[in-house]
Amino acid sequence: MIVNAGRARSLRAQLPPLARAFHHSRTAQASDFVRIVEVGPRDGLQNEPSPVSLETKIELINKLGDAGLPAIEAGSFVSPKWVPQMAGTSEVLTQMKHFPNTKYPVLVPNMKGLSSLLDLLAAQPANTSEPLTDEIAIFVAASESFSRANINCSIAESLDRLAPVTRAAIDKGLRVRGYVSTVITCPFEGPIDPHRVKDVARKLVEMGCYEISLGDTVGTGTPKTTRDMIDAVSSAVDVSMLAAHYHDTYGMGVANVLTAVAAGIRTIDSSVAGLGGCPYSPGATGNVATEDVVHALHGIGMTTGIEMGKLVETGAWISNILSRPNASRAGTAWLASQKRLEKDKAKL
Ligand SMILES: [Zn+2]
Repeated sequence: MIVNAGRARSLRAQLPPLARAFHHSRTAQASDFVRIVEVGPRDGLQNEPSPVSLETKIELINKLGDAGLPAIEAGSFVSPKWVPQMAGTSEVLTQMKHFPNTKYPVLVPNMKGLSSLLDLLAAQPANTSEPLTDEIAIFVAASESFSRANINCSIAESLDRLAPVTRAAIDKGLRVRGYVSTVITCPFEGPIDPHRVKDVARKLVEMGCYEISLGDTVGTGTPKTTRDMIDAVSSAVDVSMLAAHYHDTYGMGVANVLTAVAAGIRTIDSSVAGLGGCPYSPGATGNVATEDVVHALHGIGMTTGIEMGKLVETGAWISNILSRPNASRAGTAWLASQKRLEKDKAKL
């Protein structure tokens, strides 16, 4: 929602001083609420090396819903031949808890994936009040070489293939979120011109996407390159339609998230415990950890509606199940301080 400049100024004045510093006056995005899109169960688990059971996926989504996440990417309707980790998304959607204030987008790579989802939705009993999901996500790369390596076609071809998918989804009442990957660097081509990102983002909006998630897939972005990229894209797409999706490969995830928030972006993708990686870029880590993002945002006076304690416990729980280190610094620190408090209490 765009509010007028006067109202934006008065709302800005009500924010705590630090939040005000991060509040972009020109964009008139007056809200201090940042919507976190939790991508751990899809983007995260998809890139984890160890297999994940159906029960674990469902429990992860349930725990995240209970922690108050407003959006949780629940899975992907991609062929299990290509992405074995994403097998069973239909079962996940039908068996998980649906929290009324949480959205559950699913990734749909092509018409076949959309048909599978639509079949599943049509098979639901008519008396179910809430649909299993009302949102899909599609993806396009900003780099030609990444597009070829990932989906074996050019950017233009992938947009042509996705246009009818988007149209069909919208006709069925679904919202469509568009991902643009490799918005800063491509593992094959190197730096990406921000104006190419802008062109792809604009095409996704013209196709009907309600939101464009800008993905630094490789995680090489710095606050400077991130800001330049956002400035280029927001010259064509309103900043209220943009989401930030950053990987933490070089430890810049939180800094880049705060850069996006300062630029007026109010939707951030992140994954609990920093789950994930990128199969095409060696050494690329997962998305910036949700715990770290929430800690930073709350620290500058923004709100997320997320219960930090429950979120941190979920991050520790899934790291333990996957036998991997917890990639969230805030989560690890929070748990350590809780343990210390409990020890001190036990001494009393
Ligand atoms: Zn990602």
